Amino acid sequence: MIHKNQIYDAIIIGTGIAGLNAAATFGKNKNVLLICKENSWDCNTFYAQGGVAVPVDEADIPLHVRDTLEAGAGLCDPKAVEVLCRDGRKAIDDLIARGMEFDKDEAGNLLYTKEAAHSRNRILHAGGDATGRLIHHFLMRENPHKLLYNSIVTDIFIEEGYCHGVRVFHKDEFRNYYAQAVIIASGGIGSIYEYHTNASSISADMQGLCLEKGCDLRDMEMLQFHPTVFIHNRGARKQLLTEALRGEGAHIVDEDGKRFLFEYDKRGELSPRSLVSHAINDWKQKTGKEVYLNCSMFEEEFFRHRFPTIYHNLKDLGFNLPYDEIPISPAFHYAMGGIETDLNGKVPGIENLYAVGEVASTRVHGANRLASNSLLEGLVFSRRAVSDILRRDVYFQLREFPAEEEPLWKPVDKELKNELRHLMWEAAGITREKSKLEEALEKIEKMLKRDIGKLLRLRLNTSRNIVKSAIYREEPLGAHYIIKKGTT
Ligand SMILES: Cc1cc2nc3c(=O)[nH]c(=O)nc-3n(C[C@H](O)[C@H](O)[C@H](O)COP(=O)(O)OP(=O)(O)OC[C@H]3O[C@@H](n4cnc5c(N)ncnc54)[C@H](O)[C@@H]3O)c2cc1C
Repeated sequence: MIHKNQIYDAIIIGTGIAGLNAAATFGKNKNVLLICKENSWDCNTFYAQGGVAVPVDEADIPLHVRDTLEAGAGLCDPKAVEVLCRDGRKAIDDLIARGMEFDKDEAGNLLYTKEAAHSRNRILHAGGDATGRLIHHFLMRENPHKLLYNSIVTDIFIEEGYCHGVRVFHKDEFRNYYAQAVIIASGGIGSIYEYHTNASSISADMQGLCLEKGCDLRDMEMLQFHPTVFIHNRGARKQLLTEALRGEGAHIVDEDGKRFLFEYDKRGELSPRSLVSHAINDWKQKTGKEVYLNCSMFEEEFFRHRFPTIYHNLKDLGFNLPYDEIPISPAFHYAMGGIETDLNGKVPGIENLYAVGEVASTRVHGANRLASNSLLEGLVFSRRAVSDILRRDVYFQLREFPAEEEPLWKPVDKELKNELRHLMWEAAGITREKSKLEEALEKIEKMLKRDIGKLLRLRLNTSRNIVKSAIYREEPLGAHYIIKKGTT
């Protein structure tokens, strides 16, 4: 029997910017259930540092579109990019009107900074380098809906082309929830890589589940590796050093102080992320030298005020900033690909199912994301999805699904998860080779045949899709850097 507290107007999986903004857009009068793993703040949104890219005014819209398309290297959907930039300004103005405060100058004007591959300053920031944290606080304060913490969505009910609800593991038991619409806002895939910048909740399970339900993932080989990450801290999530540091003047140097990036591209530190990541990797391998981020050109007072999160986090790790050089390495950061959707976030072929934010592929990012376009994507497409849901005459027939679930974890999972992380880093990392990808695919297939828990199987499904997509795209494009054996 279905109890009335199991039935909602909408269920949203995820409490990052996409999920929380979708919840806000529904308004107080709808009965919405938000679900997240562990705590609401354990998400990539919370850790976003640099800011939100947004057209500064009407005249900047075509330029923001052009920069996004150029970064996307021909794989963007120009219509999606147009939507991102045009709706983007409205979404930010709406957020500000609701009370979100971005950093301003003394005269009260919004401060815009610059990041790589943007042709002008158009990145809004909050609390210096605490943009994601402050947006998350704001959206949480605003949220009027029920939030289920410490919960893992383990299944989505799809039958005859309709989505009916989800199964959730919460407090050691499974419970089904039903709704007229389900929005997946579960973020990216960080935990399948050995080195990454992502929150611990981000583990590619929803993408893997969607594959089992017959939904398509798109452009999964397009993965962004952030070039400036301090990887020697403990814990799986590594310490990101925001792109805004380079945008505002920090240098990348080797142990002799050489700014070697100019040997790869005349834009030096302001080259696109994938190029900088590849250059750092290549330089380290070629010369055997360590690579550093040098921030000594900043005044201490300015640095502490503009980059307080980095200042304090690195101080705890023993660095005296801005004077000490920080050893850096690229690490996995962002998934451009995801669950295929239309421009309203709707999953094709399945009624009442939507995906928004990093988990989705609308093709706004193409083969490479322009810096700081992802928070904007979360805002824009969550609004569009909710508008679409509210506009539609939704067909919804309540029907019950079994509450039983297969085991989520098995004893061998931990060891295999670590093996998978290493395998993905080595074979489907910054630089790829077809032969290594094929070996990785074989290993993943073998792991999938073992007696493993459901959550690991879902990660493996996503990993297999990434590796297959990378094998299929034989020529390098954007963030997908594949080399033929014997060449560099
Ligand atoms: C360190 C860092 C810095 C960044 N800096 C910037 C920046 O400056 N500007 C920018 O534009 N972008 C930045 N990004 C990228 C950006 O933060 C993310 O792309 C964006 O926040 C994703 O938002 P989201 O709402 O889609 O997902 P997230 O914010 O990652 O939220 C995902 C949610 O899904 C939940 N979830 C996942 N799986 C399940 C499940 N099975 N069951 C239940 N719940 C689940 C999680 O608990 C979480 O609540 C940064 C990313 C990182 C990691």
